[in-house]
Formats: sequence, structure tokens, C-alpha cells
Amino acid sequence: MSGFKDECGVFGVWGHSDAANLSYLGLYALQHRGQESAGIASIDEGKLFIEREMGYVADVFDEERLARLPGRSAIGHVRYSTAGDSSLSNAQPIVFSSGRGPLALAHNGNLVNAKEIRVRLEEEGTLFTTNSDSEMILHLVARSRKDTLSGALVEALNEVRGAFSVVVLGRDEILAARDPNGLRPLVLGMLDGAPVLASETCAFDLIGATYTRDVEAGEIVRLSESGVESIRYAFPRPTPCVFEHVYFARPDSLVFGKSVAASREAFGERLAREHPVEADLVVPVPDSGTYAAIGYARASGIPLALGLVRNHYVGRTFIEPKQSIRSFGVKVKLNPVREIVKGKRIVLIDDSIVRGTTSRKIVKMLRDAGVKEVHLRISSPPTQYSCHYGIDTPTRRELIASHSSVEEIRQFVDADSLGYLSTEGMMEAFGRPEHATCAACFTGRYPVEISEPAPEPEEMAAGLEVGS
Ligand code: SF4
Repeated sequence: MSGFKDECGVFGVWGHSDAANLSYLGLYALQHRGQESAGIASIDEGKLFIEREMGYVADVFDEERLARLPGRSAIGHVRYSTAGDSSLSNAQPIVFSSGRGPLALAHNGNLVNAKEIRVRLEEEGTLFTTNSDSEMILHLVARSRKDTLSGALVEALNEVRGAFSVVVLGRDEILAARDPNGLRPLVLGMLDGAPVLASETCAFDLIGATYTRDVEAGEIVRLSESGVESIRYAFPRPTPCVFEHVYFARPDSLVFGKSVAASREAFGERLAREHPVEADLVVPVPDSGTYAAIGYARASGIPLALGLVRNHYVGRTFIEPKQSIRSFGVKVKLNPVREIVKGKRIVLIDDSIVRGTTSRKIVKMLRDAGVKEVHLRISSPPTQYSCHYGIDTPTRRELIASHSSVEEIRQFVDADSLGYLSTEGMMEAFGRPEHATCAACFTGRYPVEISEPAPEPEEMAAGLEVGS
């Protein structure tokens, strides 16, 4: 419901007899991070095997397809396109044959200097097979004169800038790395003595692996027959993405070493203290508002009620009615429980307001169901800036908070009152200072310099339609 789109999820396993099946299950648990394509690459006796396709993990892979991925080591990827087209040629893992043997790469994040590097490499004669920026890393690795794959990756990663959690599968090893800012998550675990990697720990829970630690910002972890080795390739300046905790990650995951559910509850508790209101019920917008609503209810003493129900089984294709039904798009996903909300003053909790149109439809739907007052509370600050680090956000002008005051947004969504969590409140609840966190979509302070700075609201086109 957020309008910010998930990014990508990566997985890796070294030296396990069930590598392809484990990758499948890992990706299945990471499906929320990308629904456009899914892929797995495995290596067996020096030969690389790859299966990838547009679609959900469960649709892309069946037993037959997994059987075509032999070997004891594999990496996997689920993708939502944040750079490059949504097409099979951009599906990952990206595979490559190089002087140092076959390579496969799975990348979560966005490079901010991809264009410059691409132009330079193309001028030097490099042919690209995709238009995604992830391929850049493999080309840089392939061109490196370093003897070892890890040496080549160190060289490549010191040329690119931006957000990357990457997993590279080679003949003799898997290398996993995070950018020096550690913007996107990547965790290391263990299963039956075999090291495993994933974007979030929920993937470990499904396969029965235990979480060991995060791959650290500026670190490469090498998995091979020699075990697990750590290589520091850059000075760490950790600024992890707070939005992972606000919205993207699964609540049952540990991300950046912290429980996502606990962060969301803390955001909700703080929100209740910053924006109290007299009301009968606290109602979350499911699913992302649920944990913040638990926190709000606990801190305010107002009972929590599941007054909105989400249909979890909305597929990518459904038949729309021929005649227009008001707010049809939202109704497919959410429906109020009239018996619970009718005649009540409710505090409605959501994680963010992007364009404002969805919130407006939800408020309208609740009023139609007989709700007396809707007090909208948002468990993060106003989202005013686009993300350049691998999250697909609408353009800045489409973000309602970039050009409207809180009161204007309240009027647009037609709530009785509106309150956002403050940036200070979010940081306190997250437990990290702002200078050690990326919160750029709220503050405009980007921790990794971007080539094209975001325009100021007053520079944006006049005649903007509110909530368009
Ligand atoms: Fe996360 Fe926002 Fe920073 Fe992007 S800009 S990395 S979504 S906090």
C-alpha cells in the first residue's frame, strides 16, 4: 500500500548437497523484496548452471527446473526493477564467462555512478548484455588484472558508488559484499556446517539456518572450502536504510541486527506520545501498519482493533468490473469490518503517505462504513524525496509531502486529524543517530553523493495536481 516498491532480495549457499532447493526456499521467503523475476545459478565441477524467469518464485521453479541446477553451491535473486527495464534480460543472477572461469552475480541496490562507468567501459569496447547497473560490477571484475577473484572484486567495488549488497558465485568460492555505507542488508548464517547468505533472516528461518552475523559495511565475506573469511575492502561509514524497518523488510526478520517488528512497535509508541488523540480504537492499515499500531495502542491505552482486512491473495491479474466501482483498486486489497468500526472514533495507523490517493480512498471507505472520526497517524516522517539507493520511489513531484503541508495533506485525505512521526522520534526509536542512518527520503540528506541532486519543491513544475 506504500507506493514505495520493494527492491531485490539475494541468497547464497556454499557447500551443501541441497543447494538449489535451499536457494528456492530462501528466495520464497524473500519474495516480498521483488516480484518481477526470480533466478538461481549453481556451480558444479566448474560449470555454471542458470535458471531464471519473469514471475513469482513458486511459479518460476518446479522440481524439474531445480533438478537442472546441480552442485553444492548456488546463489539466487528476486528482482523488482529499480534500474534497467523489467525484462528477462535484466533478470538475475547475471552470468558471465571470464578469464577466471564462469561467474554469476546477484545484486540488491543501485549504483549512483553507473552511467559514468558504463560510458567509460563502452568507450573501451565493453559490450553490455543488459541495461541494469549490476552488470557493471561483473565487467569490472572480469577486466581486473588481480590474480584472485576477491582481489578483482575489491578493485571493482572501489570503483562503484551507491548501494550494493552483492553475492558473486565463482568456480571455487562465493563472495558476498556490502557497500561502505551498508545501505541494504545482507546476513550470514550456518546450516548443517554450510555457510548461507540472505538479504533477511526470515530466509534462514524457513530453511532452518542459524543467523551468525551481518556482512558488515565495507566488508567482503568469502565462502570456500577453507571456510568463511573476512576481507575489509573499504573504510566503513554505516548509514543503513531506515525505510527497511519502516516498511520494506519482513517484521519477522532481523535487519541490521535489529528486530523489524520491535522497531515498528517503537515507532508506534513514539507516535502515540507525539500525536495523542481521544479515540475509541486503534486500527492498522494491514500489513505494514500492524506493528506500529500495536505500539500506538500500548502507549496510548486505546484498544487495538483489526478494523481493516487485507485480501492476501490478490494476484497480478484479476478481472476489473466493466462498470466503475468507487475506490475499486483499494477495495480489492482492503475491506473494513463494519461491525467493529461503525460509530467509532478511530486512530488509523499507516507506515507512510506517498501520493495521498490511497490514504484518501481508505479514509473514504471507513467513513462509508460508518466510522465517526478518522485520525490518521503515520509511523514515519513525511516522505519528501526520492530514493537513489535501490528503492523504486515515485518522482519527487508525485510525493504529496514534497509540495504540501501536513494540513494540506490532511485536507486532501479528508482525515479529522493527521500526525506524522518526527525525524528525531524515528531516530530515537530506531536507536541510531541520523548521521549514522540513511533517512534521505524524509530529510533529503543523502549519505552517498548522487549525481543529480533532487530539485527543491519550489523548483518543481507549477500547476502540480495534488495527490496525482
Ligand atoms: Fe532507504 Fe529512503 Fe535512504 Fe532510500 S533514501 S536508502 S528508502 S532511507
